[in-house]
Amino acid sequence: MKDCIFCKIVAGEIPADRIYEDDMILVFLDIAPINKGHALVVPRGHHHSICSVPSDIRARMMERAPEIAIAIMRATGADGFNFMLSNGTCAGQIVPHAHLHIIPRSPADGVVLPARSVPYENADEKHEMLAKIRERLAV
Ligand code: 5GP
Ligand code: ZN
Repeated sequence: MKDCIFCKIVAGEIPADRIYEDDMILVFLDIAPINKGHALVVPRGHHHSICSVPSDIRARMMERAPEIAIAIMRATGADGFNFMLSNGTCAGQIVPHAHLHIIPRSPADGVVLPARSVPYENADEKHEMLAKIRERLAV
């Protein structure tokens, strides 16, 4: 897509610090890292949502992501990592080209990920939700 920053990176029209690439995906350093080594895994093709990325390409993203995370941990000395994928503006997605964040983590690194718990009103409400999700699962 012509105005997409990540399509331009894939095409080599703007520079990026490339870690890995193959026929389906590209992995490069985030320009504004949450921790040093923070990387992004993107499909070569333009898809706004991860849901429209073809399943073989999604599989490749998830196959490579842990391998790249291990390399990032070894390189940075991090003890762990977060995978983060924001899908949709309401979820915090800014760049409209699907991407998986790999964020290396260390004890007391100061990163605060938003966390909360919204309780179900009661067991019936939870079971209704469970049934609705299962009915709509198209796998
Ligand atoms: P989102 O909020 O959409 O999940 O995250 C987009 C990410 O892309 C941000 O972490 C941001 O720093 C990164 N980013 C935005 N523009 C560029 C760019 O031109 N180059 C690189 N390497 N990363 C970018
Ligand atoms: Zn794109």
